[in-house]
Amino acid sequence: MRKKIVAGNWKMNLDHQQGVSLFSEIVNMAKDEVMGSQQVVVCSPFIHLHSIAQLAKGTPQVAIGAQNIYFQESGAYTGEISATQVKSTGAAYVILGHSERRAYFHEDDELLSKKVDAALKHGLIPIFCIGETQEERESGRYFEVIRQQLDKGIFHLSNDAFSQVVLAYEPVWAIGTGLTASPEQAQEVHAFIRNEVAAKYTQEIADSATILYGGSCNPKNAPDLFAQPDIDGGLIGGASLKSRDFIDIVKVFN
Ligand code: 13P
Repeated sequence: MRKKIVAGNWKMNLDHQQGVSLFSEIVNMAKDEVMGSQQVVVCSPFIHLHSIAQLAKGTPQVAIGAQNIYFQESGAYTGEISATQVKSTGAAYVILGHSERRAYFHEDDELLSKKVDAALKHGLIPIFCIGETQEERESGRYFEVIRQQLDKGIFHLSNDAFSQVVLAYEPVWAIGTGLTASPEQAQEVHAFIRNEVAAKYTQEIADSATILYGGSCNPKNAPDLFAQPDIDGGLIGGASLKSRDFIDIVKVFN
């Protein structure tokens, strides 16, 4: 059985106190309410990581992740954070290739491939995001765009290394817009991604790969999305900032 994951991406929200308080609610609810083997991941801003990792001790259902790293290990890179630094907080995951980083911070496939390598080298699991813009969808080029993001960003990995990665399909037009991909639209792309993985690696690796859906996911639409055969969970933005909504999405897998 593939690992089911529901990951929250807090983005650039919450001051330190607010982050700790929301995370405490999430941990308490998870202890009481998460009944399946699904993994909950909270990807917070860097400033919260150490504190929330302490709060997560003893609750293996909930893991911590960062939203970015730099690929260098240390040195004169003012303002950047390395994989080892993130790992030392107790975090286990890192989101890489989010469309907001690709668009606003000009992160390209080559840079992302180095970040993926750095994460894996230091024991962080990348949640690697791919997805097309509205214009790319409307022009019918979306499979081509996604194939290229996979080829250039992540398909350089060996079989063993790739087996550790989590993929997230996030159509850019569905992020923060309230426009969710329909379960059929999402399933179509997830199946395509899984086929690409099978073609590049093996059918066995493709069958065990966790592929998350992200983009205006909420407690109402999550059940239909997560019921699709190739959707293994979600990467949740806005709804992850409300403990009740986030845990209700997690509970789809109970
Ligand atoms: P929303 O759930 O707010 O649309 O954000 C999705 C996302 O970008 C998660 O990484």
